[in-house]
Amino acid sequence: MAELRGSFGVARNHLLTRWFGTEDLHRLEVYESKAGGYAALRKALLDMKPADLVNEVKTSGLRGRGGAGFATGVKWSFINRDAPGPKYVVVNADESEPGTSKDRYIMENSPHMLLEGIMIAAYAVGANQAWVYIRGEYDGPHRMLVEAIAEARAKGYLGPKPMGVNYPLDIQLYRGHGAYICGEETALLESLEGKRAQPRSRPPFPAVKGAWARPTLLNNVETLSTVPWIINNGGAAYVKFGTEKSPGTRLMSVSGNVRKPGVYEVELGQTFRHVIMELAGGPPEGRRMKVFWPGGSSAPVLPESMLDTHTDMEALAAARSMGGSGGVIVMDDSHCVVKAASRLLRFYAHESCGKCTPCRVGGDWAVRTYDRILANEGSQVELGILERVADGLQNGRCLCGLGDSAGWVIDSTFRHFREEYEDHALRHTCKVGSHA
Ligand code: SF4
Repeated sequence: MAELRGSFGVARNHLLTRWFGTEDLHRLEVYESKAGGYAALRKALLDMKPADLVNEVKTSGLRGRGGAGFATGVKWSFINRDAPGPKYVVVNADESEPGTSKDRYIMENSPHMLLEGIMIAAYAVGANQAWVYIRGEYDGPHRMLVEAIAEARAKGYLGPKPMGVNYPLDIQLYRGHGAYICGEETALLESLEGKRAQPRSRPPFPAVKGAWARPTLLNNVETLSTVPWIINNGGAAYVKFGTEKSPGTRLMSVSGNVRKPGVYEVELGQTFRHVIMELAGGPPEGRRMKVFWPGGSSAPVLPESMLDTHTDMEALAAARSMGGSGGVIVMDDSHCVVKAASRLLRFYAHESCGKCTPCRVGGDWAVRTYDRILANEGSQVELGILERVADGLQNGRCLCGLGDSAGWVIDSTFRHFREEYEDHALRHTCKVGSHA
C-alpha cells in the first residue's frame, strides 16, 4: 500500500489536520502545549451547560462523517440526558469500507483530539461511559488509543473528576472481529454486547435503545474529532467553511490510480476535479481517468465526465451518489468496469450477514451472473438478471445499507458504462482487454 500523505500545514481549510505533522502530537503533553488540546473540554466542563454544547454543535451544522451524513447536533439532542439510568457514547472506529482510511489517519496522528471530542459528547448527552469500537485489524491506531487513554487517566481527564468537575468519565476500547458488517451501527452494538454482528430492526433507534438497551449516542471518529474545534471556535465559525447545507471540511482518503494517494482535508463544496486531479495528482502518466467512487465502495460510481461534481452532500445527491465514508477510489482507463463491479459484488456477497433474503440470495446471484458474463457466457438474460437483482437490493428492501450498496454498484455501473456491459455480455469482448 502506498504511504499515506497528509495535507500538513496551515491553510484556510485545515481545521482537523492543522497540527498533524507536529512531532509527538499523539502525546498528551504535546497535544496540549502545541495544539491547544483539551481547552475545549475545559471550556465545556467549566463554562458551558450540556444543552449549550448540543446547541453549539447544532449551530455548526456538522453532519456525520461516517456515511449517512445525519446532523450531529440533532442526533445528540435525541438522547434524553435527564432520563434515569446509564447512557452511553459508542464511537464507530470500525473503518472497514474499501478505500477508506481517514479515521485511521486521525487516530494515528492525534488520538487525544478524538478522546477530547468523545468526552465533550459524553458530557453533553449525560453519559459517563464511552466505548471506542475499533476495527480489529487496526493495530497501530489501537496502540495509540491505549496509550492516549492511559495518559488521559493519569492526568485525571478521565476518571472521577475531570478538570475538577464532579462528572465521572471513562473510555474503553473494544476491538472488532474483522467483519465489514460491524461498521453498521446496530450490528456494531450487537458485536459490542458479545453477540453475532447482525443489524437490528429500527425503530427503536440507538438514541432510545442502544447498547445494552440503554440510550446510546453513536458517532464516527471524524465526527467526534471535529467537536473540539467547534467548541473552541463556535458553531457560527464552523459554518463559514463549506456550503450552506454541508458546512465545514472533511477528510478524504484518495486511493487507486492517482499519483499521490493519501488523506486530504477538503473544504466541502470543492470539486472532485480539485481533489483527484490537483491534490492527488491525477492518473499516472499516459493514462486517462475513467471512473471514481466518491464516498467509498458503497457510493454509486461517477464517470470522468462528472469530475466537476462538488463534494457537498447535496451536489452528490443530485449526481445520484453520496459522500459516504470519504473514501475516493479512482480507476483509470486500463481497468474494466465490469470486472471491478464483479469484484465488489463478491466482496458484498461475502460480507452479507445473511439476515435478510434479498441480500443473502441476491448477492450470490449477482456473483454467479458476473462470472458467466466475464467467462463470455453472457447474453441479454444475464443483463436482465443483474438489473433485477440490483432493483431487489435497493430502496429499503434490505434491512441495512449493505444491500443498497451492492445494488448501487450494479445500478451505477450500468447507468454510466452500459456499453461495457453489452460488450461483455452480448459481443463477448472487452475494450480494455485486461482483467488483471
Ligand atoms: Fe445482513 Fe445484508 Fe440484510 Fe444487511 S442487508 S442485514 S448485511 S443480509
